[in-house]
Amino acid sequence: MSKLIIIGAGAAGIFCAVNVARMCPQLQVIVLEKSNHLLAKVRISGGGRCNLTHAHESISTMSKCYPRGEQFVKKTFQSFFTKDTIEWFAQRGVKTKTEADGRMFPESNSSESIIECLLNEAKKYNVEIKLHCGVDKIIPPLGTNKQFTLNTTTQEKMQCDFVLVATGGFPKAEQFQFITALGHSISNPIPSLFTFNATKSAKTHLPKLTDLMGVVVQDTHLKIKGTKLEASGPTLITHWGLSGPAVLTLSAYGAKVLYDADYLYEVQINWCAFFNETNALEKIREMRNMLGAQTIALRNPFGLPNRLWEFLLQSAEIQPKQKWSELQAKQQNLLAKQLCSYNFLANGKTTYKDEFVTAGGVTLAEVTPHSCESKLIPNLFFAGEILDVDGKTGGFNFQHAWSSGWAVAKAIVAK
Ligand SMILES: Cc1cc2nc3c(=O)[nH]c(=O)nc-3n(C[C@H](O)[C@H](O)[C@H](O)COP(=O)(O)OP(=O)(O)OC[C@H]3O[C@@H](n4cnc5c(N)ncnc54)[C@H](O)[C@@H]3O)c2cc1C
Repeated sequence: MSKLIIIGAGAAGIFCAVNVARMCPQLQVIVLEKSNHLLAKVRISGGGRCNLTHAHESISTMSKCYPRGEQFVKKTFQSFFTKDTIEWFAQRGVKTKTEADGRMFPESNSSESIIECLLNEAKKYNVEIKLHCGVDKIIPPLGTNKQFTLNTTTQEKMQCDFVLVATGGFPKAEQFQFITALGHSISNPIPSLFTFNATKSAKTHLPKLTDLMGVVVQDTHLKIKGTKLEASGPTLITHWGLSGPAVLTLSAYGAKVLYDADYLYEVQINWCAFFNETNALEKIREMRNMLGAQTIALRNPFGLPNRLWEFLLQSAEIQPKQKWSELQAKQQNLLAKQLCSYNFLANGKTTYKDEFVTAGGVTLAEVTPHSCESKLIPNLFFAGEILDVDGKTGGFNFQHAWSSGWAVAKAIVAK
């Protein structure tokens, strides 16, 4: 009987385990997990609801949501895509629902439904799971020994024919040593999906942007100055800086650039993305001509939250009681600039509480995308976040875990 050992009982490892065990009953499947928890990230993901995938019907648009690994996921998605995830769970009693922004969750709104489903499958197909059993060394087949040997933290030496490394990402390069020892190279780990901290300014009587904490601005467009990085969508002002979908998207696509800049950078914010400085100025002049007698603070023609409008007026040196007709040319220009090219000085990052991933991992050039098999060592596979693949927020990282776990299962079945 051939044996597969899967290292790591996360989404990718368990998904591969249950599928390969079902499709290949003559294979012994063992999952080794160093902690005492199975599927720990699935449990806490999506605020306990598990955002398990994203409603995308086209592989080419979905794959663009992966700042690293776009070409790789295009291949794994060919055999297991979003509709397959939905069907796979539905066939096992877990119905899913789609939120307005495309994120998909179990109808129960609980990640426990996903965990229960996966563990039922594991039981049904005799997947053996060992907790408190980490692997610290993988010795590939050598000479007459045709099997892999795994050294575990429980001082066991386990032999097997196939190995899947599904240990998730690691924040430090040294933690990949058990993989680099095999001759594989890694792309250095760096954080992705974080929020932007505001530079602490000197004490002043003037309000700060962070005083507006809790304000959400729906149609913003953000650019990182000096780069080509830009993103649109809602922005949330927090007590430490900026968060929300546009910020998280920028943090994912800009992970490397911002890391290299030591997280000191300038963000140019357009608070009303339907306008640019030129037509915002025209709108301001129009207001001045039409509603001259009205107080500027009380008439906000850009659809912004009132607190932000008042803040931007102050930043443009406009007095709270000033009328539209009293607006000087300098103030008009300044207001258009504050609205469409607001300058936010960022200093540092804060990890996003609901979802964070490590960018970096096993170099993709050394792994065959269709099977996720090592190009260096036959019968050694990688799935999930250990690979140098990461998606933006919204269910993309779990979809990669399911798809790569599936690719490994299919490849082992075919051997
Ligand atoms: C708080 C949070 C919320 C998230 N929410 C979402 C979300 O809603 N949607 C989404 O798409 N993504 C989400 N993500 C990202 C997603 O959870 C991960 O991308 C995904 O879990 C990766 O799956 P994985 O199986 O590759 O790794 P993991 O889930 O990290 O599992 C790896 C397992 O391997 C074990 N392990 C590590 N080293 C060893 C070893 N040497 N020996 C044995 N075992 C080992 C670990 O203990 C772990 O149990 C979230 C992440 C976090 C942290």
